Amino acid sequence: MAIKQYAVIGLGRFGTSVARRLHEAGQEVLGIDLVEEKVEAAEGYVTDAVIADSTEEKALTSLGITDFDCVIVAIGNDIQSSILTVVLLKNLGIQKIIAKALGKRHGQVLEAIGADWVIYPERDMGERVANQLLSPKLLNYIELSKNYNIEEITIPLRMAGKNLKELDIRAKFNVSIIAIVRNDDIIVSPSPEELLQPEDLLVTIGSRKDLAKFSSLE
Ligand code: ADP
Repeated sequence: MAIKQYAVIGLGRFGTSVARRLHEAGQEVLGIDLVEEKVEAAEGYVTDAVIADSTEEKALTSLGITDFDCVIVAIGNDIQSSILTVVLLKNLGIQKIIAKALGKRHGQVLEAIGADWVIYPERDMGERVANQLLSPKLLNYIELSKNYNIEEITIPLRMAGKNLKELDIRAKFNVSIIAIVRNDDIIVSPSPEELLQPEDLLVTIGSRKDLAKFSSLE
């Protein structure tokens, strides 16, 4: 994986976990926060951490913020600072701005001023938890659009030992299998003759409604 440069502004709970994960994956991460203790605490899990106020253009430019591939604005509670920071970053021509929103209105403003990706951590996590409760077979998913998902699900038990051709999942459920995860391997575009095994995970694509029906099979 190519190494990219990320700046995470706001080292609260959300910013910290984004920064930590990127750093663990070998990416270059600059952590920025107003508060000295937050910056000190971040030192072990980022490439560099600095105290700065992201609502001051000079502070941002002196950090060379325009050289970063992606800037994550993880300021939540101080909505004014979050918005001002995104406006400044946008004006400076940052390639990719990701911003955390506390609620719908905040998110709409962030989108309107040009954030490339607005994240609603609480809403999204709440939906994930509910989806997991509703269909325990659903392990992981990506929302492609409002109606379409890619979902990773454990196979319905009665499908083990059968091949994809005889199961005819696409015709019966309107769901396509794009890959099978087997132990640590992944079989991409499995052939129709592939026999499903009890521990297999299916990577499926389809409408949420069709996927929900498919993943509720016993
Ligand atoms: P979380 O819910 O993820 O913990 P918070 O909103 O509580 O998020 O934390 C946001 C962090 O952003 C805090 O550590 C705060 O000090 C920092 N922060 C707020 N405003 C600025 C700013 N203008 N510049 C840099 N950091 C900021």
